[in-house]
Amino acid sequence: MRINPYYLSLIREKGDPVWRQAVPDPAELSDLSGMDDPLSEEPQSPVPNLTHRYPETALFLVSNRCAMYCRHCMRKRKVGPGASGFSVTDETVAAGIEYIENNPVVRDVILSGGDPLLRDDEFLGGLLERLRAIPHVEMVRIHSRVPATLPQRITPELVGILKKYHPLYLNTHFNHPVEITPEAARACALLADAGIPLGCQTVLLKGVNDDEETMGALMRKLGSIRVKPYYLHHPDLVRGTGHFRTPVKKGLSIMAFLRGRVGGMCVPQYMIDLPGGGGKIPLLPPYVRETEDGMMIVENGNGEIYKYPLG
Ligand SMILES: *Cc1c(COP(=O)(O)O)cnc(C)c1O
Ligand code: SF4
Repeated sequence: MRINPYYLSLIREKGDPVWRQAVPDPAELSDLSGMDDPLSEEPQSPVPNLTHRYPETALFLVSNRCAMYCRHCMRKRKVGPGASGFSVTDETVAAGIEYIENNPVVRDVILSGGDPLLRDDEFLGGLLERLRAIPHVEMVRIHSRVPATLPQRITPELVGILKKYHPLYLNTHFNHPVEITPEAARACALLADAGIPLGCQTVLLKGVNDDEETMGALMRKLGSIRVKPYYLHHPDLVRGTGHFRTPVKKGLSIMAFLRGRVGGMCVPQYMIDLPGGGGKIPLLPPYVRETEDGMMIVENGNGEIYKYPLG
């Protein structure tokens, strides 16, 4: 476990949404249904720490440390000092770069981990320079929770390095409105002012954000700090995270609530990642009820029924 002083300061009381994300729960030990690697990332890794599932996108893990360790982490097996056998080394980073260089279909590189921004500025500058020198790499994304968990890491010096390597995107991970503090807003403003489009990959978590009002407030607040809600992830079937699971039906009802009440710029896609490496698919509330005589019978967010021609 790790809870840094900043993230600790966001806890208001025992068992609150920040506490639940950060403090170990005994229920983690009695979860027998989860898997270590439910998305089969390892079988889809041609070199250690690089998963290549979608032809044009390479998921490249360049850190196994985070500013705090989320209890709901989907990559627990590889994250933190206790993740034996999965270390990120100069050799695995070099092998990942070489793999990308040798695979011209890869045009989109995701730097993930762990948290890539736990690496130092010099490492990150060198890595981005190597990647941007590869002609077929058309864009790089950084996946980092640091804007939510250690916004002080986003310094003018770091941003000065990052902005040299456009097109660069950053997807972060906020799960609750209380994480959107003045410090987090400042970090996101620095990044956005440097021309880095910001997205958010929120995880639907029981007792944290599994209700309409909390999720609506989070999505609106993200919009106000220039972060576009990208995905709302249904939690993966990871061992030790069963106490965070909430029914898909709940996720769908939250999505039905968001659509129409929250401006479209602040509505994410609700995703499940299929076990066994099947990839991500979006889930939508059942707007289309049935089809008959060339017409769709659809229901809008207010429960009203309409007809719309299929062709
Ligand atoms: C989620 C994921 C991606 C990125 O998916 P997008 O829908 O493009 O954001 C890429 N590779 C792997 C292995 C993933 O799990
Ligand atoms: S920041 Fe991401 S990788 Fe790190 S513990 Fe949290 S979910 Fe896992």
